[in-house]
Amino acid sequence: CGIVGYTGFQDAYEVVINGLRRLEYRGYDSAGIVLEQGSNFDVAKTKGKVEDLVAISKNLIGKSHVGMGHTRWATHGVPSDRNSHPHLSNNGKIAIVHNGIIENYDTIKIMLTEKGFVFHSETDTEVLVNLIQYFMDINTDIDFPTAVRYALNEVYGAYAITVMHEDFPGVLVVARLGSPLAIGLGNSEYFIASDASPFVEFTKEAVYLEEGHMATISLKNGVDIRNIKDNVKITPEVQQLKL
Ligand code: GLU
Repeated sequence: CGIVGYTGFQDAYEVVINGLRRLEYRGYDSAGIVLEQGSNFDVAKTKGKVEDLVAISKNLIGKSHVGMGHTRWATHGVPSDRNSHPHLSNNGKIAIVHNGIIENYDTIKIMLTEKGFVFHSETDTEVLVNLIQYFMDINTDIDFPTAVRYALNEVYGAYAITVMHEDFPGVLVVARLGSPLAIGLGNSEYFIASDASPFVEFTKEAVYLEEGHMATISLKNGVDIRNIKDNVKITPEVQQLKL
């Protein structure tokens, strides 16, 4: 299973799809992609291989410079188109890709259902993306990365996630606990991936996100790393890749 994200000047579709191909060795049963398209998201996802995803998403070539993709190893819910990632929040504005397991998803799902949220998949992941929306709904003065942080402080388990919000174009929020995530620092471009193999051809500079850390990534403001628990700012340690 794997995650790839991109913001920069290249075609995000090509970077994400080629990145997913490089992560195929990790094993998976489904694949998906979401691209920023003006103030909307374009989503394609399917059970099957990355090449099955390519077959249904060629219309997205050359359309965007910001996006993310996923290969899924099903843990909650069967392998199916519907359970594939990305998952969207109920208001359609927030998209997430996730590797790992949200252990307490069922109690949160009950709480959100009581608040009127509906679920279209059997995944733990769809619960997390709606919890992020919930925190934005009830705290109208907080920004998107803060809502992600609030939500992560309510869950336990293991995760690597990347999240995008339609109203925050060009921003990718990533976080990790128990699953790996690397950030590639290019020249006017940033990469996100489960390991460095999807971006090593483009940059040799990387930050490996540490346990319990999250990062807000945009061309405008660079990479801002925080401790999920207390929001303390972290100075990243940049690694020189030798691959
Ligand atoms: N738990 C999530 C799911 O079943 C993510 C699985 C994964 O690591 O790909 O959809």
